[in-house]
Amino acid sequence: MAVSNIFKCNICGYKVVTSGHHESYRDGHGNRRPYGHPSPTSFEALVYGIKGFSARKYCFNCDQVKDIIVSELEKPAEYWNDFQNIPCKTFDPACEECNGNLYSELTGLICPRCNEGIFESELTGFS
Ligand SMILES: [Zn+2]
Ligand SMILES: [Zn+2]
Repeated sequence: MAVSNIFKCNICGYKVVTSGHHESYRDGHGNRRPYGHPSPTSFEALVYGIKGFSARKYCFNCDQVKDIIVSELEKPAEYWNDFQNIPCKTFDPACEECNGNLYSELTGLICPRCNEGIFESELTGFS
């Protein structure tokens, strides 16, 4: 299930949206693609099965939200709730570009745009 978190700077109003976890699969070429939730968005997704989960996390150095893999299953899961029975590796990756930490929770952190305000949690959405 994917949860979106919206953070807003209390001084300049800069907004950052992070989210996760998103089901994904690997196609025949090994490329990661969104699987869809709760059911697969394509026949191809259905055939390959859920292979892992991605998240969108924020890098302060790059001032960008990065789409990264946070866990990968040992074998593809056929159904969206089947993955709980399959061993999985989890990752806590750093930013690919600057090697900085990635954040999904920004509450209380200082805004990189104005260097003055702090992020407040504005809204949480489920999808
Ligand atoms: Zn700000
Ligand atoms: Zn970065």
